Amino acid sequence: MNNTGRKTAPEATPDGHSGFATLSGNRALMVEEPLIFEQDSPGTSGVDLPEPPTAALRLGAVAPRGRIGLPGLSEPTVVRHYTRLSQKNYAIDTGLYPLGSCTMKHNPRLNEKLARLPGLADIHPLQPVKTVQGALALIDELAGWLKALTGMPAVAMSPGAGAHGEFCGMLTIRAALAARGESRPRVLVPESAHGTNPASAAACGFIVDPIPANSEGRVDVAALLARLGPDVAAIMLTNPNTCGLFERDIITIADAVHQAGAYFYCDGANFNAIVGRVRPADLGIDAMHINLHKTFSTPHGGGGPGAGPVVLSAALAPYLPLPHVVHDGAGLRLVEHRSDTGATGVELGRMKGFHGQMGMFIRALAYILSHGADGLRQVANDAVLNANYLLASLGDVMTGSFPGPCMHEALFDDRFLKDTGITTIDFAKAMIDEGYHPMTMYFPLVVHGALLFEPTETESRQSLDQLITVLRGLVARAQAGDVGFFADAPRLTPRRRLDETAAARKPVLRWVPPVAD
Ligand SMILES: *Cc1c(COP(=O)(O)O)cnc(C)c1O
Repeated sequence: MNNTGRKTAPEATPDGHSGFATLSGNRALMVEEPLIFEQDSPGTSGVDLPEPPTAALRLGAVAPRGRIGLPGLSEPTVVRHYTRLSQKNYAIDTGLYPLGSCTMKHNPRLNEKLARLPGLADIHPLQPVKTVQGALALIDELAGWLKALTGMPAVAMSPGAGAHGEFCGMLTIRAALAARGESRPRVLVPESAHGTNPASAAACGFIVDPIPANSEGRVDVAALLARLGPDVAAIMLTNPNTCGLFERDIITIADAVHQAGAYFYCDGANFNAIVGRVRPADLGIDAMHINLHKTFSTPHGGGGPGAGPVVLSAALAPYLPLPHVVHDGAGLRLVEHRSDTGATGVELGRMKGFHGQMGMFIRALAYILSHGADGLRQVANDAVLNANYLLASLGDVMTGSFPGPCMHEALFDDRFLKDTGITTIDFAKAMIDEGYHPMTMYFPLVVHGALLFEPTETESRQSLDQLITVLRGLVARAQAGDVGFFADAPRLTPRRRLDETAAARKPVLRWVPPVAD
């Protein structure tokens, strides 16, 4: 058995690392880690427990090990296994994470500390409401901030992420139309939109009608106006948009949409660029989700928890989903049934169980309160400044997609790689060898071979300068025609470039069946 606890030789020793293969299959501190079931050593245990008393088992005399098949492991083996797994992740805690459209900012430890307070962490959603008044007050206070920051009169707190918020917002629009006795089939979505926008509209039963972008990376207003009509339910627009640009014609668009009797859904995933500076209500928006896990710094990625509250205009507020918190004489009350409010709107019901992602609410409120209104405005200023620093520092060697400054994201296309034989993905793989998580690639679709960088406000000047130095070096290497270097990247990772198609089509799933005694 080697130091990984593996009983058999590694299936495949990573090779091709400059022709150098280790005996263990490890790459220095990057240790080949087998599944925990493959480290099973029957009879081994991390704890000394007294032998259980023998008793007849009601379901038949089956030995516990045979029944549930847990591996036998010592405590050091377990600790090493999970520590090694934790080290395999690239995270915002390990380095700059410029993934555009994701707002991978530092997650302050204060948020984590508060989310773990026993009075918040140990309560249960089914406790009597009078015993969780503090939790309701917290939801209510966060809701108050979201309404103040957006200028909107109502907010649905329960959606579990941005995409779920879009779904919620589009359901409120459908309900508002139904209340008017209308069923408008079409929703206009710009071509640069995040894929969740058309998906959410379609999931609500709407037909998605794509709107082209103009040569400046913004919505083609003329094309949009031409599509507006009595069959349009809504537009879904992102602002700042996914090209990192502010939609300057947004008020004209909002007016036209309302004139046509439709609603304006705004994808608020990029709120970080304008928080504290622009109130979406003042732009004529009817519904907008806020990704708490982006703008308000809760850990995300890897499918981790998110939260996507949706702010609603007066026109859509009557269709707020359940539950929500209201003030009455006795304190805070939870509205769990439409009849509780006396509202006669179309019943939207619940978006999910209970009240939403409570742990995310605590973190987001901690973040908001620790920044204050002025601090949040500074966040937006600094996020935009950092992105423009990248854009300006790379503009002479990489090809910026659109003229002029950007908002919180710097978007490049792949013209700087033209005729080199090197693609955006080759370039990204070379960044991995340099210790960077790559930027967002090939999104938005309106730009060829897109490279979308979102540094966020939490990166320092030094860290941006280091990234810029690396990128400039890689560009020089690409333009010198070093195709082999890029085709071979990444070289320094535990696995080389994966065949992503085969990985999706023919996944190798390992499962060690439980051993019956
Ligand atoms: C992240 C994102 C979404 C989806 O949000 P999730 O919280 O991941 O569901 C939608 N639109 C844009 C522009 C985004 O960046």
